[in-house]
Amino acid sequence: MNLELSEEQEAVRQLARDFVARDVAPYAAEWDRSENVDKSIVKKLGALGFLGLTVPEECGGSGGDHLAYCLVTEELGRGDSSVRGIVSVSLGLVAKTVAAWGDEEQKRAWLPRLTSGDAVGCFGLTEPGTGSDAGSLATRAVRDGADYVINGSKMFITNGTWADVVLLFARTNDTPGHKGVSAFLVPADTPGLTRRTIHGKLGLRGQATAELVLEDVRVPASALLGPEGKGFSIAMSALAKGRMSVAAGCVGIAQAALDAAVGYAGEREQFGRPIAGYQLVQELISDISVDVEAARLLTWRVADLIDRGQDFATAASRAKLFASEAAVRAANNALQVFGGYGYIDEYPVGKLLRDARVMTLYEGTSQIQKLIIGRALTGVSAF
Ligand code: FAD
Repeated sequence: MNLELSEEQEAVRQLARDFVARDVAPYAAEWDRSENVDKSIVKKLGALGFLGLTVPEECGGSGGDHLAYCLVTEELGRGDSSVRGIVSVSLGLVAKTVAAWGDEEQKRAWLPRLTSGDAVGCFGLTEPGTGSDAGSLATRAVRDGADYVINGSKMFITNGTWADVVLLFARTNDTPGHKGVSAFLVPADTPGLTRRTIHGKLGLRGQATAELVLEDVRVPASALLGPEGKGFSIAMSALAKGRMSVAAGCVGIAQAALDAAVGYAGEREQFGRPIAGYQLVQELISDISVDVEAARLLTWRVADLIDRGQDFATAASRAKLFASEAAVRAANNALQVFGGYGYIDEYPVGKLLRDARVMTLYEGTSQIQKLIIGRALTGVSAF
């Protein structure tokens, strides 16, 4: 694996870094307090090409490689995880899935809008009763003439209240032992679909996370994405790549924690000199830096495997597992360097810790990643 970045990769990273410094970082604390990212950020992300980065050019994207995607995602995560999540979901989980599975009409209808930021996508898999065991979801889509009629509910849906289109997973076959889940592209303004913003999250507070309720939502059969019954594997393949994006966002959090800890340790004086000169403070800082580097290398490894067309799913679980736990550790260590000031929101490290915490939960909890890795190594499923 070549760890030298190409000129294009350096350029896209710098573009993301400048954008974050100008349009994201100065507002992140305020968005966190008000529980509301300024939605105009979506258009800006689209204008810079970040919402179509890995979508093929023939589908309206910029056809970039996955390492470039990781670099952008890391920079966004460094500035504000809520903004990073908009891209990870609308591009990583929705647009990429439409590009991979959509027919020409579906691609024409959604990809130009999603990649430009004219539309936002959300990924509706989790339900109130099914999280880790997503294959048991209860939302049902019943064929009625030329349409499907969908009933059910979805929980914790990132971008949920902002979204123009829901990539929705619903059961279309109840035969015992048959996964029977299908994927649908449901316009968010379809009658019968209602959305409620979930307030009071520990972190990612600026993000529009929602509960969706579907009551007799009628969509034409052309809303079906991919073959009927293929929905569970469509969801799982989207999430495998999504885990790389979450991991890259975690590298960004850990890097932000490192920058903040080094900066503060150099300025803060106790016992007559900067705390940076105390060995126990250096231990905290060096531990953060090891987490940053290890998480980054595991994440780049996934991008490298994807770009070379190799199997990447287990590597993505390893990267997501390690990077999410590392981000929590790094932010917690940084908070320790800040002492009491780390505990108030005038300083950034408390938010980093709160934002990091969910990374060990979504797109498969740490326990679920371990089961995926364990199954790959032993050949035995422990689910
Ligand atoms: P549960 O599955 O009930 O798990 C509870 C605990 O049991 C966990 O510790 C888990 O690891 C453990 N556990 C469960 N099964 C096993 C097992 N077999 N072995 C060992 N331990 C086990 N979902 C979407 O579909 N789209 C989104 O956009 C989205 N965004 C989200 C945003 C936020 C802020 C949050 C909090 C969640 C989001 N989710 C989304 C949902 C997320 O993916 C789920 O919360 C996650 O999969 C865990 O499901 P659960 O919360 O139901 O926990």
